[in-house]
Amino acid sequence: MSFHLDPQTVYISLICGHVFTVILLSAYRRSESKERSVSLFFTAKLIQAAAWTVMLLRINTDSSAIISLSNTLMFIGTAFEAVALLNLQSSLSWRTARIYIGVTSAAILIFNGILFFHNIEVLRIAAASFFSALLIIPPALRLLRKKSGGTALRRLMGILYTFVAGAMLVRTGSSLLGQGAPALLSAPVAHDLFSISAYLTMILGNTGFVLLAKQKADEELVYLASVDDLTQIWNRRTFLKKADVMLSRCAKRKTPVSFLLFDIDGFKGINDTHGHDVGDRVLKEMSQIVSRQLEPEDLFGRYGGDEFAVLIPGLSVAESTLKAERIRAAVEGAYTLSIGALTFVPDDRSDLDRIYKCCDLALYDAKQAGRNQVKRAEGHFEVPAEERQSLPI
Ligand code: GH3
Ligand code: MG
Repeated sequence: MSFHLDPQTVYISLICGHVFTVILLSAYRRSESKERSVSLFFTAKLIQAAAWTVMLLRINTDSSAIISLSNTLMFIGTAFEAVALLNLQSSLSWRTARIYIGVTSAAILIFNGILFFHNIEVLRIAAASFFSALLIIPPALRLLRKKSGGTALRRLMGILYTFVAGAMLVRTGSSLLGQGAPALLSAPVAHDLFSISAYLTMILGNTGFVLLAKQKADEELVYLASVDDLTQIWNRRTFLKKADVMLSRCAKRKTPVSFLLFDIDGFKGINDTHGHDVGDRVLKEMSQIVSRQLEPEDLFGRYGGDEFAVLIPGLSVAESTLKAERIRAAVEGAYTLSIGALTFVPDDRSDLDRIYKCCDLALYDAKQAGRNQVKRAEGHFEVPAEERQSLPI
C-alpha cells in the first residue's frame, strides 16, 4: 500500500482545524468569562490559521515576501500558543512576556535576515525549527513538572509539546549537518510524517488546551467551595474531610494527633463597640497570625463564627500544649483567644465529633477560668469500654 499526502490537502486541513477552533472559542468566549489564557489561545489559532493560509499560497510561488509573511505569522502564532499555555499554569509574568517578545522578535529578524541576505534553504529551516522549539520548551517543561499539581492530562500535554520541540530540534540539527533538510522535505515518506504530525499536534494541542482550561476552571471552583470567604482558610466541610484523611493516616502509623479548638474572647463586644467590619478584620488578621505559627502539614479551618480548629499530627501532649500556648501568645494583644486542646492516638473508630465535643468542654473551662488561656481536654475524654484503644496519650 502506498499513499501520499499532497501539501495542499495538508494545509487546507490545518487551516480548517484552526478556523473551527477559532469559531468554537469565539462562541465560548461570548458566554463564559473572558479568561486571559483562552483569549491568548484564540489569538494564537487565528494567527496560525492565517499562517497556514499563506503557506497554501506558497506552494505555487517562490516569492520571498510570501515565505517571510508565512514564517513571521507562524512565529507569532507559536509564541501566543506558548504564552497561553504558560498563563493557564499561572506562570506568565511580565518578565516572561517580555522574554517572549524578545525571542519572537529575534526569530523574525534572524529568519528574514537569512531569507533576504543569504537565502540558503537549510539555514532558513534550521532557524525556523530552532526558534519554534525555543518558544515551546518552557510551557512543555512546566506541564511536565510534578510540583504544579501534575495531572495525567497535564503530563500528556507536556509529553506532546516536548515531543514537538524535540522533533524541531532534530530538524534543526539535521539541516545544519547538511544531511539534509531538502532531502527530508522532498522525501515523500518524511514529508508525509511531518504533515501527519503537524495535523495530530494541532488536533491534540487544541483539544488538550480546551480540556486543560476546563480542568483549571473546575479546580478553581473546587478551591472556592473549599475555603472560607472571609479568612481564606479551610471551611468547616473541607476541614472535616481533610481531618478524616489525617486521622486515618495517623491511625495507620499509630502516631498521635492534637486537636486545638479556639474561640475569640469577647468577640461580640468587638462587633458591638467597633462595628461588624472591624470584627471581620479581626477574624482575618487572627487567621493570618495563627497560620504563621503552623507547619504545612497542620490543618487549620474555621468551624463557624469566631470558632476555629487546628489539627496537628505528631506532637505529644506537652508539645501540643506548647504549640497552643505559642498560638495564644502570638494573637494576644487587642484581643485574646481561649483554647481547648486534646492529644490522642487515633484508631479506625475515632470520631471527630466526639473529639470536638471534648475540646469544646475544655474551651468552656478556659472561658470559665478567665479566658486567654489553654485548657487540656483529656479529662473530658471518657472512653466507653469497647473503645478503650483510642485512649488519649
Ligand atoms: P466568649 O468570650 O464567651 O467567646 O464571648 P463572645 O462575645 O466571643 O461570644 P461568642 O463567641 O458566642 O460570639 C460570637 C460572635 O461572633 C457572635 C456573632 O455575631 C459574631 N460573628 C459570627 N460570625 C461573624 C463574622 O463573620 N463576622 C463578624 N464580624 N462577626 C461574626
Ligand atoms: Mg467568642
